[in-house]
Amino acid sequence: LPVELDRVVTDVLRSMRNEVAQHRLVVEHLEPVQVMGDADRLRELLVILLDNAIRYTPPGGEIRVGLGHTPGPEVALSVADTGIGIAPEDLPHIFERFYRADKARSRATGGTGLGLAIARWIVEAHGGRIEVESQPGQGSRFTVRLPAARPASPETEAHT
Ligand code: ATP
Repeated sequence: LPVELDRVVTDVLRSMRNEVAQHRLVVEHLEPVQVMGDADRLRELLVILLDNAIRYTPPGGEIRVGLGHTPGPEVALSVADTGIGIAPEDLPHIFERFYRADKARSRATGGTGLGLAIARWIVEAHGGRIEVESQPGQGSRFTVRLPAARPASPETEAHT
């Protein structure tokens, strides 16, 4: 079914207001965007990425969410944080089930190591992919790319 992804983002952010109260939440312009898929799963995907951004970013850090069309027939949803970041040797593995970087620290922050495996599964079930860029000590950015259900409207396109 067509899903209005910008609405999903707005709903999830509203429902997680208390969780992000300790951080600076920056919501970039959310473009009206439609994808084909399962709204509940897409909601779950965003919750996973936001939960991680919150968990791995000290209070006062920034969490930035963006959504828009890309020049291809795709939409990009990004969740970026200014948290602890991910070591280069861990990056290729974080989407594996039960993989957790820095075991001692990870135990302290809780979690099972399943979140990102589920996130990747949801993204791939929607015909998309998920990417991560990170600098230890600087932060992380997760970008989800999904096929657009319809091309960007002309007036939106002019802004991309
Ligand atoms: P949960 O399954 O409850 O989400 P988790 O956070 O350990 O637990 P994943 O979401 O799969 O599991 O994440 C895997 C690992 O990737 C984490 O243990 C953490 O080391 C790293 N990671 C994920 N997101 C971030 C982030 N935003 N900043 C820094 N490290 C992250």
